[in-house]
Amino acid sequence: MAAIPPAYADVVARIARAAQAAGRSAEDVSLVAVSKQQPWEVIEPVLAAGHKVFGENRVQEALARWGAKEAHQFAGLSLHLIGPLQTNKAREAIAHFDVIESLDREKLARALADEVQKQGRSPRVYVQVNTGEEAQKAGVTPDEADAFIAACRTAYGLGPEGLMCIPPAGEPPGPHFALLRKIAVRNGLAKLSMGMSGDFETAIAFGATSVRVGSALFGARG
Ligand SMILES: *Cc1c(COP(=O)(O)O)cnc(C)c1O
Repeated sequence: MAAIPPAYADVVARIARAAQAAGRSAEDVSLVAVSKQQPWEVIEPVLAAGHKVFGENRVQEALARWGAKEAHQFAGLSLHLIGPLQTNKAREAIAHFDVIESLDREKLARALADEVQKQGRSPRVYVQVNTGEEAQKAGVTPDEADAFIAACRTAYGLGPEGLMCIPPAGEPPGPHFALLRKIAVRNGLAKLSMGMSGDFETAIAFGATSVRVGSALFGARG
């Protein structure tokens, strides 16, 4: 086994400590290593250390980096799409991702459901909630969330397993994490994707089941 990159060991240890401090088990929090815009030489050592779960925010960039997974050497990887998804990329998203965390509108739900039918492949999905109701940010508003989750289940057969949010920059993230959790609980959803390099310990305290960490693992993006 290759040497464990120090930044990776550090993030893994911080996740474990935050879980323990919250009275949770470290195994209940998974790390999505966000490899977007990172050079392969910083990704490869994390892969070599045995890490299997990576996050990307653009379909084309992810395919360029990771290739067609079925055919390549990275068997066992779990690729998460964490960025906004256009309907014209639904086919590639269903074909190549294991988890789509950015489901946020009916048109996209319909396009994904069609591709699930066509391809017979069903990535797990998360509904993205725009907890800060920011105009420039993707996600359903907190008010729309219950109806949208119900539509995903009944009209599209997508059965989301959880929720994802990105709190507004420059605001304390805690209230946003608490809101996401409240929406998940009342909709019977067990998974919460929340927390990035700057706030993943806070997110774990608020119940995150996965954290999406890029720069703390790999360094500043180019
Ligand atoms: C880029 C990105 C991250 C990782 O951000 P860092 O601050 O580098 O950890 C997490 N989530 C989403 C949705 C992102 O786009």
